[in-house]
Amino acid sequence: MSQETETIKVLIVGSGPAGYTAAIYASRAGLSPVLYTGIQPGGQLTITNDVENYPGYPDGVMGPQMMEDFRKQAERFGTEVRYGVVSQVDFSKRPYKVVVDESKTILAETVIISTGASAKWLGIESETRLNGKGVSACAVCDGFFFRGKDVAIVGGGDTACEEASYLANICKKVYMLVRRDELRASQIMQKRVMNNPKIEILWNHETEEILGEEEVNGVRVKNNQTGVEKVLDVEAFFVAIGHQPNTGIFAGLIDMDQNGYILTKPGSTKTNIPGVYACGDAQDHEYRQAVTAAGTGCMAALDAERFLSAQE
Ligand code: NAP
Repeated sequence: MSQETETIKVLIVGSGPAGYTAAIYASRAGLSPVLYTGIQPGGQLTITNDVENYPGYPDGVMGPQMMEDFRKQAERFGTEVRYGVVSQVDFSKRPYKVVVDESKTILAETVIISTGASAKWLGIESETRLNGKGVSACAVCDGFFFRGKDVAIVGGGDTACEEASYLANICKKVYMLVRRDELRASQIMQKRVMNNPKIEILWNHETEEILGEEEVNGVRVKNNQTGVEKVLDVEAFFVAIGHQPNTGIFAGLIDMDQNGYILTKPGSTKTNIPGVYACGDAQDHEYRQAVTAAGTGCMAALDAERFLSAQE
């Protein structure tokens, strides 16, 4: 069991835009926050290239650079950023007990959960190799780089339909690869893609291989009913088969929806546990943008600060 114990006012779990923004606000409020980065320091933005939709960067910024800037800004005001993974939590009484790397115990008066979400991937080799080189799990982030081009998207849920419609506005043609003969998406979203002349749905199609050496230049697909294969000439391949919130360690300890997203009280980042706040993609399956994550990170720090003030 744990060796060292430390008591702090604000513990931030996760190092994406939500966590770092919470850290900037909490440290400027004099709360000396400690932030644990998790296994992917910087979060999902560290696996994207250019970020062009974050206000304040008129020429765009590389995702990893942006997260480096966020970290430095948080540290400038006294946030202690530590590399480590929270392995266990106990929300049964305050201060809350949190174990990091199965060795260190922290007693935290407030906890801000900003553990984010991870895109689900197909799991094929070419997808990993060409990630960031035309393979993306975010049409809103990367679609713009392929304006006027032919692209493919895989998935048949609301996200895939929404992203296919988004891509159809900027790309020349969108192939939608659906593994069954029906969509999972809501009726309204189904109608939207089916009525869009720029979207061609390939039913019963699975991805065999994404083609290209340095960048995507095609995708080999197979009809899983007939076995017939063909190559689509596309310059980008979007994966929209769902996301998984990184909230497993909190399961059963805090209210979540059926998909594992932490539930927050409307208009705030408050969870059902007093002094525990959730921000960013760990509680948002709807918007999932860096700027919205940062916004809720700010809210979480203000919520924590007000909670601590009220205790005094
Ligand atoms: P989802 O509903 O779980 O749909 C995932 C889709 O990806 C399904 O069509 C699934 O096919 C397909 N898929 C999964 N693994 C695959 C694989 N290995 N190869 C090919 N296809 C694969 O995920 P989501 O679309 O991200 O939506 C998540 C939740 O957010 C849903 O509750 C959704 O309604 C909600 N959402 C709502 C909105 C909105 O209301 N505006 C927008 C986005 C999301 P099968 O159908 O064959 O399993």
